[in-house]
Amino acid sequence: MARPGNKIIQAKLVLLGDMGTGKTSIALRFVKGHFFPNQEPTIGAAFFTQILSLSEATVKFDIWDTAGQERYHSLAPMYYRGAAAAIVVYDISSVDTFVRAKKWVQELQTHGNQKSVMALVANKSDLEPKREVEAEVGEQFAQENGMFYMETSAKTAENINELFYEIGIYFLNIF
Ligand code: GDP
Ligand code: MG
Repeated sequence: MARPGNKIIQAKLVLLGDMGTGKTSIALRFVKGHFFPNQEPTIGAAFFTQILSLSEATVKFDIWDTAGQERYHSLAPMYYRGAAAAIVVYDISSVDTFVRAKKWVQELQTHGNQKSVMALVANKSDLEPKREVEAEVGEQFAQENGMFYMETSAKTAENINELFYEIGIYFLNIF
């Protein structure tokens, strides 16, 4: 909760990436602190809010969790245009989802909010034995595109809070 006199930052954040990469699971892990293994595919988009207390400010995230399916693609600009942060998610066990993630990044570079912070998230880090995308490959792509890179698991909670914390810290410098 906000402390008296503490700055409040309200910021829109969008989750983008292929269907099945774990966008909804990441949002639910952050917002509810749980992993729901039988997550239904998102239709259109879902909305969540969560508050993060940093020592310098309180960040209120308005999280837009988009559907990854191609048929909803035309809706995506509505969500990313005004976003202060964009998280592009892929699944480390599927190289196809990494290819899709790169396309999302290109789209954001050309049509997105130039001032937004962008994160490339390699999710499902718990599936290490099935890994198809090496960390160095993701990391390098992120670096080339001015994004920060993080490997997460919505299942084990690895780096989920850290991801939103990093974005919150970034907001302190731009708001
Ligand atoms: P979305 O379509 O990107 O929103 O993906 P969902 O959150 O619906 O997740 C798709 C599937 O992947 C579901 O069966 C989830 O339980 C599973 N999933 C999501 N995150 C993880 C993760 O970090 N590790 C593993 N092993 N499975 C995950
Ligand atoms: Mg979803």
